[in-house]
Amino acid sequence: MIECPNCGGNLKFNIALQKMNCSFCNSDFDPYEFDSKDKDGIESKEYETTIFTCPECGGEIESTDNETTGFCPFCGGSTIFYSRLAKEEKPDFIIPFAKTKDDCKKAYMKAAKRAFFLPKEYKDEKYIDGFRGIYMPYWAYDIGQNGHVTIKGEKTHRSGDYIIHEHYDISGDLDCEYNGLSYDASSSFADDISEKLAPFDVKKKKPFTAGFLSGFYSDRADVNKSLYKSDAKTFSNEQTIKRIKDEPSLSGYSIEVSKNKINSKIKSTGRTLFPVWFMSYRKNDRVAYATVNGQTGRVVADFPIDLRKFFAFAAVLAVLLFLLLNSVFTVKPSTSTIINGVFSVIALILYLIGSLAIKSKENKTNDKGYQSKNGNGIPGTENTHEPDLYKTRPLPLITSTLGVIIAVLMFVTRSIHDEYYYFCNLVIAVLVGVTLVSLIKDYNLLITRRLPQFDKKGGDDRA
Ligand SMILES: [Zn+2]
Ligand SMILES: [Zn+2]
Repeated sequence: MIECPNCGGNLKFNIALQKMNCSFCNSDFDPYEFDSKDKDGIESKEYETTIFTCPECGGEIESTDNETTGFCPFCGGSTIFYSRLAKEEKPDFIIPFAKTKDDCKKAYMKAAKRAFFLPKEYKDEKYIDGFRGIYMPYWAYDIGQNGHVTIKGEKTHRSGDYIIHEHYDISGDLDCEYNGLSYDASSSFADDISEKLAPFDVKKKKPFTAGFLSGFYSDRADVNKSLYKSDAKTFSNEQTIKRIKDEPSLSGYSIEVSKNKINSKIKSTGRTLFPVWFMSYRKNDRVAYATVNGQTGRVVADFPIDLRKFFAFAAVLAVLLFLLLNSVFTVKPSTSTIINGVFSVIALILYLIGSLAIKSKENKTNDKGYQSKNGNGIPGTENTHEPDLYKTRPLPLITSTLGVIIAVLMFVTRSIHDEYYYFCNLVIAVLVGVTLVSLIKDYNLLITRRLPQFDKKGGDDRA
């Protein structure tokens, strides 16, 4: 902790003031006043911190205030943390929090209100107060592109009966720079959240000093710093190619540039801390995250659907539709069977799409940081570390298919008895209902996460 020079109280970074503030004697200080220097006046490359390890999931979080979080941000467990003092290497940069906890709660509530079927415990004041300010580590790459490039250009015009293609070699010198291309450096912090929380305005980054951390927590960089180099290069190459194609002097040409023509060099890699308000909600063996970008206020949250709320809404809607349709025109029983059949098909398709999406998320095939920690860093290779945890359930597939079959049979046989139609429509409606319940349950699986299990015993491979 950083002591107040006036009274010895614990100084914390105050977001509204953007200064260190003592709540006992109410004095403010510049965060850089507390840079620790050795006796020769050379700034230390390290800072002191307490690392807390969650006994349940192995997630690690650190704090300079030696106060525990009370609950684990990653798995939502509220067990006693193991703590140890440590000296950590200083990150290069930090984007200090700009949004206060109140701003964050307001932004979250606004998003929660728009999530119509959100279970009400997600809007509970007690739950929302659980937001913690956490600095998330990112690797930030600076990339330079220099040198001579030749690209192919083609102009096409018509002359009489001929179409004439003119080929050009267009050459020029590149001088491009990309600064602060940032990638999630923590394997604990899910890539899907870090991507959606972006962008952070890296121009507002500041040189790191430990004072900014006071009153907050920080997640640790445990992903190798070279992991995203190729992604950063690919990204900057694509951006440059886009810029070349948009170049006004080249309009009229169809341009072809191959990516390997552009020579991208990583000029530097820096560790930057980004501010994120973080909250986790645990139910049984699932956890849902709510995050708010601490710089811009953008909300990224896992919002599940309350089944009861959904079906209450669906029932009201069905009754209203029924009354409306009955008052305007009469639907023939055979037509209603077709409509029901279409519903069955839609339910089937939705279920299949949902199921595939969950499969990829549950098995974390897209989380590069996570995969790299599990020895699966090479893109395109199969995840061999864990067995597939999610499998498509047969029941909703059977019910929706059955609904389609019944509808088709009714349509083909063209029964003259209305009662058959009514009966079959009822059966199809129940089948669609069963599919919908599975669909929503699976949606909630997709939107929440399985409890994380981190294995950080392998030591610190910060490069
Ligand atoms: Zn004080
Ligand atoms: Zn945990």
